[in-house]
Amino acid sequence: MPLPLALRVDALLPVLLGVTLVWFLAMGHYALRHRVYPGFRTLVFAEFIGLGVVGTVFLRAGLGDTSTIIFTTNFLLLTQPVLVHRGFGAYARVPRLHTGTKRWMVFAFLVSLFQFCDVAFAPDLTRRVLVFSSALTLLHLRVGFGLLWRAKRPLPGLRLVCASYVVSAGLGGMRLVSALGGYGLSYSQMLRVDTVLAAFVLVRILQSVLELYAAFTMNSSMLEDELKLATAQIEQMAHTDALTGALNRRGLNMAGPEALRRSGEADRPAAVLMLDLDHFKDVNDTHGHAAGDEVLRAAALLWTDQLRRDDVFARYGGEEFVVVAPMTAEAEGVALAERMRSAIARHRFAVLRGSRLTVSVGVSGGVCGSLGQLLKSADAALYEAKQTGRDKVIFHAPGEMAECGASGERI
Ligand code: GH3
Ligand code: MG
Ligand code: MG
Repeated sequence: MPLPLALRVDALLPVLLGVTLVWFLAMGHYALRHRVYPGFRTLVFAEFIGLGVVGTVFLRAGLGDTSTIIFTTNFLLLTQPVLVHRGFGAYARVPRLHTGTKRWMVFAFLVSLFQFCDVAFAPDLTRRVLVFSSALTLLHLRVGFGLLWRAKRPLPGLRLVCASYVVSAGLGGMRLVSALGGYGLSYSQMLRVDTVLAAFVLVRILQSVLELYAAFTMNSSMLEDELKLATAQIEQMAHTDALTGALNRRGLNMAGPEALRRSGEADRPAAVLMLDLDHFKDVNDTHGHAAGDEVLRAAALLWTDQLRRDDVFARYGGEEFVVVAPMTAEAEGVALAERMRSAIARHRFAVLRGSRLTVSVGVSGGVCGSLGQLLKSADAALYEAKQTGRDKVIFHAPGEMAECGASGERI
């Protein structure tokens, strides 16, 4: 019974050629003009191989089974799924991808060499179909299940590609069986009547489209990931002081009110500490600016050790630092300030050849008051600490401005 036109291999091949060509041109053009990932270029190459496959199949139909054409057709057809696996595997972070690719390329070469020898020394079409179909089935199974199971980074498009390779592997297996039935036919006769082969080509056309879709999704998904990472890094940099790693003023203005809000919601007091190293100018004058920087870094590190995860720690400017401690009563705030003060007083700074420094701390806090109001009273407390001898902690309650709103919350 004649096959419907659409399912005849010789009718489908031009369609495959067209799809592959469009695929190759679209991806190749994109790869040349845009930033893509190594896997993307491998896929472009895989599609280039796909073009070669269709070309050699046409040649084969015209010239017959010469050993060179058989070798080339087999090698290209077997190489293509290896490259597809590598291309998508690079995105999916499949382990040991490089070694696997090398190993399977050698496999494709050896199978093709066997086919070459078959044609050259003892031609047997059925044996060749059996050998080739087994190898192809194996390689398509590797793409289908291998990528599906070993992918560390899933992608919806990739799953579709995998599914299509499982289907094509199934057709490869069926072709094994059908080859036995078609014993004695010539290659061009087989092309006309082999329904399984026709279905394989049809699936390959579908595969090309899916690969195109998945490759572009893969690329944009990687770009999105990069963009997210870069944005997070920029945001982090915008809120962080480069010297000490503490938050900067912008970071304080974001995280400080948030910490106060959390305390307010829990109806708990919060404390704000303002720390200013004593006679820091002398450090710079005596030991140099670089030593001053090192002291700032060391002090920030000493203080960070005293803080809880929820405390906000910022460099307010120069040698002034601020802590916003949520859920912290007056006495706890003062105790924290005392710990921070004595951490500095006890420390021998290596960069100052073992000499010591002191710090003055102004503390404010309560249930009401905005960050600005609490900073203002902490600053007044700090000023008093400086005026009354330094190396001490002074507490000031927030001023009159720091009242609670109508609902009793922070304003
Ligand atoms: P006081 O005890 O009254 O706080 O005296 P002080 O010398 O610490 O205060 P003053 O405000 O007079 O000097 C602060 C010095 O901090 C002046 C400035 O050179 C120095 N400084 C500010 N930022 C940095 C910095 O990033 N690195 C270094 N090394 N020094 C800095
Ligand atoms: Mg100062
Ligand atoms: Mg100072």
